[in-house]
Amino acid sequence: MNFHVITIFPNLFDSYLNDSIMKKALDKGSISVQFYNPRDVTKNKHKKVDDIPYGGGPGMVMMAEPIIDLWADITKKTLIEKLPLTKKRKFKTIILSPGGEKFTTEYAKASAKEHTDIIFICGRYEGIDARVAEITGADLVSIGDYVLTGGELAAMVMIDSISRQVDGVLGNKQSLEEDRISSHEMYTRPAELKYKGKKYQVPEVLQSGNHKLIDEWRKHH
Ligand code: SAM
Repeated sequence: MNFHVITIFPNLFDSYLNDSIMKKALDKGSISVQFYNPRDVTKNKHKKVDDIPYGGGPGMVMMAEPIIDLWADITKKTLIEKLPLTKKRKFKTIILSPGGEKFTTEYAKASAKEHTDIIFICGRYEGIDARVAEITGADLVSIGDYVLTGGELAAMVMIDSISRQVDGVLGNKQSLEEDRISSHEMYTRPAELKYKGKKYQVPEVLQSGNHKLIDEWRKHH
């Protein structure tokens, strides 16, 4: 899976991608992540990538042209230069937007299954000129009912979740908890924990070795 991120703050991704499972997935080549900065291609002589909103209001809007230029370049270049002969590249474009459709595991699964390349467009300020969505045919996607300062965190959340669905990213297929009965209430040793004079026990059923009962318990916890 190839992720392409259009952002004016590519450095924000560094620490998350350079550790743990994301780093391993990148090192193994199971995923790739590339960044494209609208500031590098803006035709504005002051390197501006935003302008005041039509209709008035506070804040600035990200200009369409630099984003569209990058988007067109990514699809064209990737297709021409990196197309593996055996595999047809299938692109999906996502604009991070608090008003978009809600991101879910189902969306992550479908994205990983149906596409080889995902382009994320990260907004800042008051958002992105709406003509970017019109021209790119992007999905508008939200990671939750709250407003972030930019689309970068949202893109990172989606990269993490979609990567889990890519073969070879999680060492053990069993680790994909989305596909098995799992609980949000987990325990490890010791079976009895003492804290401030009180004892905290691991539920007996989890220590029973009876997997039918354990699965049943996990469905409800
Ligand atoms: N009114 C603007 C809008 O609806 O797009 C809010 C802009 S917000 C301050 C700046 C950027 O952060 C957005 O353009 C979007 O890319 C990103 N963003 C904020 N909250 C988000 C969320 N819950 N899910 C996805 N992206 C979000």
